[in-house]
Amino acid sequence: MSSKVWVVPVRHGEDREMVGQKALRLFQAAGLHELVGQDELVAVKMHFGERKNTGYIKPEHITPILEVIKGRKGKPFLTDTNTLYRGQRQNSVDHLNQAYEHGFGPERVGVPVIIADGLLSKNYSEVSVAGKHFRQVRIANDILHSDVLLTFSHVTGHIATGFGAAIKNLGMGGASRGGKQMQHSDVKPKVSAQKCKACGLCLQWCPVEAIEIVDGAARIDEEKCYGCGECTATCRFGAIDINWKGNLVALQEKMAEYAWGVVKDKLGKVGFMNFLIHVTKECDCMGKAQPPVVGDVGILAARDPVAIDQASIDLLTQVAGKNLFQELWPKIDCQVQLDHAAALGLGSREYELVWCE
Ligand code: SF4
Ligand code: SF4
Repeated sequence: MSSKVWVVPVRHGEDREMVGQKALRLFQAAGLHELVGQDELVAVKMHFGERKNTGYIKPEHITPILEVIKGRKGKPFLTDTNTLYRGQRQNSVDHLNQAYEHGFGPERVGVPVIIADGLLSKNYSEVSVAGKHFRQVRIANDILHSDVLLTFSHVTGHIATGFGAAIKNLGMGGASRGGKQMQHSDVKPKVSAQKCKACGLCLQWCPVEAIEIVDGAARIDEEKCYGCGECTATCRFGAIDINWKGNLVALQEKMAEYAWGVVKDKLGKVGFMNFLIHVTKECDCMGKAQPPVVGDVGILAARDPVAIDQASIDLLTQVAGKNLFQELWPKIDCQVQLDHAAALGLGSREYELVWCE
């Protein structure tokens, strides 16, 4: 059965407040406001952007929607979970400070920010799922305990999943750090001894001390390594590459199973908005400004995370005139996450587009 996906076009460089008004019209046209009842706790799942990143969804894009939720007597809060990698969002204090630095302070957006998995990511529950990889997944409590979940995603490419939007925002973004670790555990990088300069930088960044210098080159202890990819991003000499064979498929499937764990007990109380604005090769976890890889398309809204992600890929393919994500990440088939999510019953890859102006 096909799902409806609403879309509003946005032009490159359009004023942020105007985009916010368009997002609000879309939100209402898609009926997402009807998800909210009086006194309900409404989690608005975001990505506040790593320091120096510029691609994240801006506060002005969402504040009109937050006002409407409050007008319906709902209790919205912005939320995200702490990251696995070392950066500005690995614990709740740094994460909140980063969110405020990017303009998500309560004085500006009018609602609190709550980091859903707690100070050191110990605030989570085990949720049962009947997955191919997992029987239990670890979901951040303050997302799990909300009455309504709205997931707002900035669509980007991704180094390990090829493409990241609603399914990724739910699955990876709704997981505790331990849950993120479990999703990544199959992806182990390899060091090229020829390219390694033994500079030691990757040792400093590895969260689990899995790397040591042996015989003049870095060596990774596969027992300790959980595949977070931090060393890959750190090495300036291209000496560490992810082992692409096979396991990135498992990562996407695991992510879909986590996404299912987030929403399975919230049926009829979840909504999604994908922002196809300033789409970049890598995600907003990258602490740098990245150029867009395609022209702006607009914003999409739906109640189905699979349909909205499929529509996002299709619209970006149309605008780019090529298979954009395949070209950006040729060794990754990002359709895996959609296939697995659809097979789990998370949503449909069939959709009907409804254009709004
Ligand atoms: S960062 Fe790269 S060059 Fe430096 S020790 Fe690690 S693998 Fe070798
Ligand atoms: S060795 Fe493994 S755990 Fe350590 S940084 Fe690299 S991918 Fe992460």
